[in-house]
Amino acid sequence: MSEPLTAGVVTDLAPGVRRLVAPNPGPMTGPGTNTYLLGRKEVAVLDPGPFIEAHVAAIRAAAPGPIRWILVTHTHRDHSPAAQALAELTGALRIGRPPPPGARQDQGFAPDRNMDDGDRLSTDEFVIRAVHTPGHASNHLCYLHEGLGWLFTGDHIMNGSTVVIDPPDGNMNDYLCSLQRLKQLELSRLAPGHGDLLDDPDAEIDWIVAHRMEREARVRAALSAYHEKTEEELVSEVYSELDPHLHAVAARSLLAHLIRLEAAGTAHDTGSGWVGVGPQ
Ligand SMILES: [Zn+2]
Repeated sequence: MSEPLTAGVVTDLAPGVRRLVAPNPGPMTGPGTNTYLLGRKEVAVLDPGPFIEAHVAAIRAAAPGPIRWILVTHTHRDHSPAAQALAELTGALRIGRPPPPGARQDQGFAPDRNMDDGDRLSTDEFVIRAVHTPGHASNHLCYLHEGLGWLFTGDHIMNGSTVVIDPPDGNMNDYLCSLQRLKQLELSRLAPGHGDLLDDPDAEIDWIVAHRMEREARVRAALSAYHEKTEEELVSEVYSELDPHLHAVAARSLLAHLIRLEAAGTAHDTGSGWVGVGPQ
C-alpha cells in the first residue's frame, strides 16, 4: 500500500474498512494513531485515539453509517481516550478491557462490554474476534476480522516504529508468547495501530521475534559475572546504534529483557546493577 499516512486523511482499505490517522505524530506514534472504521450500515470504530476534538469530529464525518461500537485494543493514552467523548456523542458501546493501574493508562476508559480472549462482536456485516495479547500492555487485545483474515494489532505490532515493553505492565516473555500465538491464526494481513498495512503476517512475526531474541542475546553478552553494570551502562552498550535521545525509552525494553533473563536464571539484579549468571 502506498497511501500516505497523513492526519485527517480517510483511506478505504477494503470494502467496509476505512482508516483515519489521528493528528498525533511523534517518535513513539509514527505518523499518528490509526483509527479504523469497520462496516457501512452500522459502524465500529477501532481505536478512537487520543482525545482531540478535531479527530473526534473527523471520525464522525468519516463514518459511512451510525457509530454503534467502539473497540479499544488497549488503554495507552494514544489509543483510547477519545472513546468517552465519542460514546457520549453517539451512544456507541465501548468494548475492550479496563485499564490496569498507572499514570500511562487512560483511567477514564470504562468498557460497557469487557472482552475476553475469543469473545466476538457479531454484526450483520462483519464478525470481530478478540485475541488477548499481553506484553506491550497487560490488557492488550488484537482484533481479528474473521471475514477478511485481517488482524488489527494495536501496539502489539507496529509498522515503522519499535514497540516499547515497559515493565511492570509491559512483559517481554508475555510479548514473545503473544507473538507466537498469532501464528496459529489464519491471517492475511496486519493492520497496525501505527503505520501502514503489513502484507505478510507470518514473515513479520518471525522477523520481530528474531529481532527481539538478537537484542536479548546482546543484553546477555553485555552482562559480566564479575562486575555489575548499571542499566544506563547497558543501554549505551546494547543500543549503541540508537539516537541517545531514545535511550530513556530503550531502557524500558532493556529492563524487560533483563527481567526475562533473570526469570530464566541467567541474569541477577544486585540492587545497584546487573550481573550475568552461568556460562557466558
Ligand atoms: Zn501502547
